[in-house]
Amino acid sequence: MNSLKLASLILMVIGLIAIVLGGLYNPQSAVVTMGPGEVKSFVFSMNKGISYTFQLKGTDYFTFYIMNETSYDRIEKSNFTDSIYSDTVKNTTISFVPPESGTYYFVIANVNSQGYVQVVLKYGESNGTIAIIIGAAFSISAIGVSFYDYRKNKRKEEMDEKCPHCGAPVSSSWEFCPHCGSRLKEGEQ
Ligand SMILES: [Zn+2]
Repeated sequence: MNSLKLASLILMVIGLIAIVLGGLYNPQSAVVTMGPGEVKSFVFSMNKGISYTFQLKGTDYFTFYIMNETSYDRIEKSNFTDSIYSDTVKNTTISFVPPESGTYYFVIANVNSQGYVQVVLKYGESNGTIAIIIGAAFSISAIGVSFYDYRKNKRKEEMDEKCPHCGAPVSSSWEFCPHCGSRLKEGEQ
């Protein structure tokens, strides 16, 4: 195995590992249907410094909140005011970096509509998407290196010998010299 083949194999392995790891962290989704005034919540264990992406798409306007355990405990008193993040939207993507590692609550509330609202929630670590992009880049590089290696070897194979009769450059895979017509592989059938 030459160094280019080894390089392309290493690039491909790194690329595929990154794609698999990225896929494990990649968005999961949930479909939430809420009647008027209804609230649904999701619990996440999040790590400080990691960016989490939430993508929300509703059939109508809804309000969502990100809460820590302290603010979530106050929901029963109908107090949503001390949530870490809140917004009223129909369709949005937000990135959330937790200030501390711990348990967080993602709360979706139908307080704006008289009817049912369905929200599609997708969530995951942003790092997962980055890993997939890096993995794809490595894999494409590996294909590029393999192709370069193939071209290089092919060119080398084309003219790797000289005809013993006329001295013209010939390939070892040829049976006859195209210049003088003499047989190149003596005794081979
Ligand atoms: Zn010849």
